[in-house]
Amino acid sequence: MSSGPELEPNDPTDDSESLTLEQAAFTDTPGQYLTVVDRHHRDQEMVTDLKALYSDRCQVCGDRRARPDGTGFSEVHHIHPLGNPHNGPDTSDNMLVLCPNHHADFDNGVIAVDADTLTISHPYDRSIDGRSLMLRDDHTLDTTHLTYHNENIVSRSDATDHPSNTT
Ligand SMILES: [Zn+2]
Repeated sequence: MSSGPELEPNDPTDDSESLTLEQAAFTDTPGQYLTVVDRHHRDQEMVTDLKALYSDRCQVCGDRRARPDGTGFSEVHHIHPLGNPHNGPDTSDNMLVLCPNHHADFDNGVIAVDADTLTISHPYDRSIDGRSLMLRDDHTLDTTHLTYHNENIVSRSDATDHPSNTT
């Protein structure tokens, strides 16, 4: 005769998880709202951890920018861009720690990085052209994102190394 309340760990009506009334008040679709918040929070943690792993040194040039008080300043780049139309993943294997200049070069499609050798190509920055991307042991890179960058973001205005001229 079990008169006590039965625990049903898989109650299908209970999808509240970490939902609070305060968060639910923001939107008619609290599930979506929470997903965005959680993802943003995770992303910020990954970004902070990754910057610390490299001590704010640029993975391309090795420079460490600093604020007047000596704390480092670096930026994190998503190799395979987030959002439409690219829809890259928000994961550390898709992230690089960069100085502002080389972050801009990635965004502008000026820098290419060979997915197999991690060799950097830059059309006019001789200080980094031919160097290897710095990669710490604790940072796993999904090199398919580099391939995506090279094929979709890098703009090849020079046709000099394209011998196949079919027109
Ligand atoms: Zn740099």
